[in-house]
Parts: sequence; structure tokens; C-alpha cells
Amino acid sequence: MKFSEVVGQSITKQKVLPLLRSGRLPHALMLLGPEGNGNLALAIAMATYLQCENPSEEDACGECSSCQKNQKFIHPDVRFSFPVVKPEKKKSPPVSKDYILDWRSALAENVYLSYNDWMQSIGAENRQGNITAEECREIIHQLNLKTYESGYKIQIIWLVELLGQEGNILLKSLEEPPPNTIFILIAENGEAILNTILSRVQLIKMSGIEDEDIAQALLQRFDTDEETALRIARISDGNFNAALTYAQGENKPYDQVLRQWLLACYNLKLKPSGQNTETLLGWIEEMGKSGRENQKIFLKYALFFIRECTYLALTGGSQKLYGDELKFAGGLAKQLGVEQIETMAKLINALHYHIERNGNPKILWMSTSFKIASVFSRQEVIVE
Ligand SMILES: [Zn+2]
Repeated sequence: MKFSEVVGQSITKQKVLPLLRSGRLPHALMLLGPEGNGNLALAIAMATYLQCENPSEEDACGECSSCQKNQKFIHPDVRFSFPVVKPEKKKSPPVSKDYILDWRSALAENVYLSYNDWMQSIGAENRQGNITAEECREIIHQLNLKTYESGYKIQIIWLVELLGQEGNILLKSLEEPPPNTIFILIAENGEAILNTILSRVQLIKMSGIEDEDIAQALLQRFDTDEETALRIARISDGNFNAALTYAQGENKPYDQVLRQWLLACYNLKLKPSGQNTETLLGWIEEMGKSGRENQKIFLKYALFFIRECTYLALTGGSQKLYGDELKFAGGLAKQLGVEQIETMAKLINALHYHIERNGNPKILWMSTSFKIASVFSRQEVIVE
């Protein structure tokens, strides 16, 4: 992975490149930023640059044997640790290398993957993944071996917030790593990280990716037009993983799906009939089939849309909605008051929260739909 392949993040690239060029890179650093912002991609680009046999001022060469190995995530001196669950037939606690082949193919498919994508790809179902004490001991053991091929040994730990108290096993290594060892820790949720770890790393905070950068990257990867790319970028909220999912789902635009849902909820209360109940149940059935990650992204879109409706209701305009979307939002803003729109936003937010925490999607969609129906008929609604 070269820096040129990392979407946007030019500020962070300009921050780390001089450190990499001059060899003044701290021996333990942490890239902290929201899901889908490319902090893992950047860590891999840094490792690739450090191992490259022929780097330029700005990037790795992409062609030497080190770069080729890093392209496939198989460089022997770049080690990955990541959350895992116990494999079925294994008695001892799991370590990352139990899943190294899955990891490489997941990265080859999408280096912007989310924790949930990863858990799904290893069949974790509802189990919580973590980085075990055994993995921490394995890290220390491996880093104390000689380097195989290059000057540096690089240990990348993805989602360091899932280390828990086990992280304390690593403190001494983080403080005084073996010579020529670099730790690159990656985190999304700063509040969940042990203070003992935070105080031993140089923290590099990263934000989400700029809309323009996401749009450019989509235009390079998909057969789409500039307006669609920008629209997807705006609703992705700096998350390139979300943008990829939106772009892949473009054949069924989210605004139409949302319209069908809200209309079904509306009809349920105001024009109750067997037919209208069937329509809503059918919609929920379809949504339930689309997978948890897709549902979460759809809900992010719904939230974005409802918030724009609030602006529209308050100011009479929106800078982010166009065409049919804007017309639909205008209708909704007219139909409902600001207070009702706010309640709807809270309901959708709560639904996202519960879907993310592995609640039963069918039940959750059903109960939220009934509550939204009550919002349309201006009844009191409790958000849980
Ligand atoms: Zn190279």
C-alpha cells in the first residue's frame, strides 16, 4: 500500500512523511480517528515506506521486493495484531495468527474494513472479538527475534481499544522496544484506551476523510458521475468504508428506500388496512435480508436526511439535498413540525444503536416503524 493509494488525509501524510524520511519516527505511535477514515491504510503505507528499498521523497516505490510483499500483507517484518474470537476446535485462547489468512484476504478486499466487517468475515456472529493476553505475549516474543529482511520490525495493532487490561503486558515493550522496532497502534475510540498505553505513545489524531477526496476516490473506482460521487461523499460523513457500500448499492438509491419506508409507516397509522400492513412487513423483510452493516449505513443515511429536514424546516433551505431528495424532504418538513422531526431523528439514532449492538433486526425495525407511525399521527412517543 502506497501513500498515493490512501484516500485523502493529506494533513496526516504531511505530518508523518518528514518523520519517516529523517528516521526520527517515535518508536510507538498511535493513529486515532473515526471508523472508515483510513488509519489502518495509513499505517500500512507507513510500514511500506519504511521497508521500501528505493523510496522517493513522497512515497514508496511500489516495485521492489519489499513493496510487493507489503502489497500482499506478507512482509515478514511487518506484523499485524487484530481482534479475534476463539476458533471452534482450538482449546487455548486465540491469537491473531490463527486468522492470518482471513486477515490478508480481508485487507486485499478492503483495507477500510470496519470491526463488524471483520467479525463477519471470520464468522464471529454475535461474539465479541478481542486482542488476548496470549497475543500480547506473542507480540513480545516475535519482536525479540531478529529481523528477517530489513532494518525495521513493525508491529501494527488494529483496534487497540479491544486490548482491555491485557494491554498492560505490552507497557514495557512500548516504552523500551527492541532496537529498530516501531509500534503503530490504531484506534477509533480514544476513551476506551488504557491510560497506561496512551501515555506511552505519540498520539496522531486523524479526522474523517474530506468529501472531495472521497468523491475523487469513488470516481476512480466506480463507473459513476461526479454528482453521484459527491452525493455519496456527503452522506458518508468521512467514512470511506460507508462510501464504498453506498457506491456498490447505488442501483437501489437510499433516498427511494427511505421514502418507501416512511410512506409505509405513514399509511399504517393514517390509512390502516391489511394491504398497508403487508407493505410495511414486506419492506422490513427486505431490509432484514440486507445484512447488519448495510442496515447501519442505511440508517446513517436516514439520519443525515432527517437532519437536513430539520434545517429545511428551520431555514427553508438545504445545501446538501438536490432534486427528488430535496422535494421529498420539503414535503416531510411541511407535513411534520420541527419537534416531530427531532423525535424521528432520535428514533432512528436509537435503532442504529441497537442494530449495532446486535439486537434482533426484525423486532427493532418493527417497533421503530410503529413509533414513526405514531409520530406522523402526532402521538406521544417514547425513545428507548
Ligand atoms: Zn519499494
